[in-house]
Amino acid sequence: MDGLGEAANGDHGDRGAKREVDRHNPTQGAERPARMKVFLAQPRGFCAGVERAIAIVERALEIYGPPVYVRHEIVHNAHVVKSLRAKGARFVDEIDEIPAGAITVFSAHGVSKRVADEAAARQLPVIDATCPLVAKVHKEARKYERAGNEVVLIGHHGHPEVEGTRGRVDGHVHLVSSVADVEALRVKDPEKVSYVTQTTLSVDDTRDVIEALTRRFPNIIGPSVRDICYATQNRQHAIRQLAERVELILVIGSRNSSNSNRLREIGEEARVPTYLIDGPESIVSEWFEGIGAVGITAGASAPEILVRDVLDHLSRLAAIDIEQLDGVEEQVHFKMPRELASA
Ligand code: SF4
Repeated sequence: MDGLGEAANGDHGDRGAKREVDRHNPTQGAERPARMKVFLAQPRGFCAGVERAIAIVERALEIYGPPVYVRHEIVHNAHVVKSLRAKGARFVDEIDEIPAGAITVFSAHGVSKRVADEAAARQLPVIDATCPLVAKVHKEARKYERAGNEVVLIGHHGHPEVEGTRGRVDGHVHLVSSVADVEALRVKDPEKVSYVTQTTLSVDDTRDVIEALTRRFPNIIGPSVRDICYATQNRQHAIRQLAERVELILVIGSRNSSNSNRLREIGEEARVPTYLIDGPESIVSEWFEGIGAVGITAGASAPEILVRDVLDHLSRLAAIDIEQLDGVEEQVHFKMPRELASA
């Protein structure tokens, strides 16, 4: 799921110097390109887990009325959080901030056993919006622990999904993010090690880390298919295709969105200047000087309306021709939790 803002917007050379001015006047100080081709990645934007999590909060608000309390941002997108807040959702960091008896939603990133137990001890009516693919990772980790293995989690420190997964296992979970972390790993029995992964990592980075783990622990057990979810993989594949066609990429997503940050990194690895933007207000007109082809994609928690807003903004900078690239048509939908499906 979406995660920590360990990366800031791509800052290429001294172009950032005039950003503040440009934010208020998109055409000031920049030579306006006459025409730009804009390619849209396919797929982009909302995944099934995000759609479900947002629908859960909206449905809970309809059924029970506001306020509905959500532990942590329901998904990592500022636009989504703002719009749900306006409808009556209250976002909190800890369970003890929730009043007695108030409807409580766990975010799509999942929660640790401690958080779930705390809510149960307070008898809060909980609706769990944990993405089923994250819940699957929790299950795997517990299965490995029951088999007597030490669990290694490939993921990013501080990410709520990582905290949730670690907190689902009673024993210590080793967290590794890089090949160097694997080299430094100390385990009790190298014959009894298993791994799981955060769902929103880069497929390539994880491959290197899994290879390093397999070198160090030849009998390590992991999931038959990598835990990185279908939506993350599809969006990463799509941005690679995009990078072959364009001179600049805009990734729409919030800074604390892990999968959006991975998309930005992949664009940069392909040597295409790539900017992570919350929406049109983050665009700097100077980025487009001398640019004829722009690519747009959106992280799994970014709504399509932001893509349209960015296109509107670009059309005020230059005449644009829009083309959507061919790509996977996703047909994944997750069921609503029982308590809402039947209400
Ligand atoms: Fe679930 Fe993947 Fe979406 Fe995260 S990015 S909510 S794991 S479908």
